[in-house]
Amino acid sequence: MADKQDSVLGTGAAMLTPSGYQVRPKVALSSCNRIVPPAAPSIIGQCPYYYQPLHGEYLETVEKVSVSSAWETVKAFATSWDPWKDKEVARRLLHRREQLIAPESTDSDWSRHGNFMMRHVGCGHKPPSYYVSYGYYYCSNYGAKLYPRLSPEGQAWLRSARWYLQKNMEKGLMQNMAGNDIQMRSQKPGNGSFSMTVQQYELELDDDTFKAFAFKTHPLAYLDGGLADLSTWDLAKITAQPNIQEWGDIRTWEQAVDSAKVVVPNMINHSDMDDPVGRALGRLLTK
Ligand SMILES: [Zn+2]
Repeated sequence: MADKQDSVLGTGAAMLTPSGYQVRPKVALSSCNRIVPPAAPSIIGQCPYYYQPLHGEYLETVEKVSVSSAWETVKAFATSWDPWKDKEVARRLLHRREQLIAPESTDSDWSRHGNFMMRHVGCGHKPPSYYVSYGYYYCSNYGAKLYPRLSPEGQAWLRSARWYLQKNMEKGLMQNMAGNDIQMRSQKPGNGSFSMTVQQYELELDDDTFKAFAFKTHPLAYLDGGLADLSTWDLAKITAQPNIQEWGDIRTWEQAVDSAKVVVPNMINHSDMDDPVGRALGRLLTK
C-alpha cells in the first residue's frame, strides 16, 4: 500500500509538468488504498464532513434544478457523477493529497468524499454517492432551511443529531477496518441497535451497502440527539419538511423497533393522534 501511494505522489508531480516539456515520465497513475483513516474530531458535526462543494458540476446541478425536483436530481447526479472529470479540482486535491489522506486531517479541503478520491486514484472506485446526496446536500440544504424554523431546543437537537450521524459513520467505518462485523447501539439506552456483516475494507466501496449502513445509523442518531423529547411544535416543523420520507426513510425505522417504542408513547402523550403531526409521525414510525 505504501509503495502504491509513493508512486502516485510521483505521478502527481509529473501531471504538473509544464506543457512545453517534451519528455513525460511514464508512471502508472493509480492507487487503491482501502484503509479509511479517522476524521478529525473538529469536523464531525459539520456538513463538509461529507463533501466540500468545490466542483463546478455539483454547484451547477444544485443551482439549476427547480425546488420541486432538486432532491431527485441531486440523488441521480450523485450516483452517476464522476468527480475526476473536473481536472482543476482533481489537481487541487492531488496537490494536497498527503494532507487529505492523513489520519485526523484538518486540511480545509478535507471531506470523506475528497479523502476517498485521494485514496482511490485511477482504480475505478467511486466515492459513495451518499456523501454528496444524503450527506452533504441534505445537511446543507434541508438542514439549513429547517434550522431557523426550530425552537432553541429543536436547533440543539439538529446539531446533536448531525454530530451523532457523523460519529456513527466514523464508528462503522472504523469497525470495517477491524473486521467483517459492524455492530452499533445507541449511546442512550433503548434508542436502538443494529448489526450487519460487511467484508472488511469493503464498506466504502459498495454504494448500496454503504447507503444501507448509513440508513441504519439514522434512527440511533435522531433519537440519541433527543428527537423523542422535542415539543410537538418542533416535530411539526421537522415532519413538514419536504422529502420527509427520505430524511427518515421508513426502512431505517423498521429496523429500530426500540426507537418506535421510545418515540411513540411520548408522541401519544404530547399530541392527539388525530392531528397532522401525530399522523405524520405515525406514518414515519409505523411498520
Ligand atoms: Zn480503489
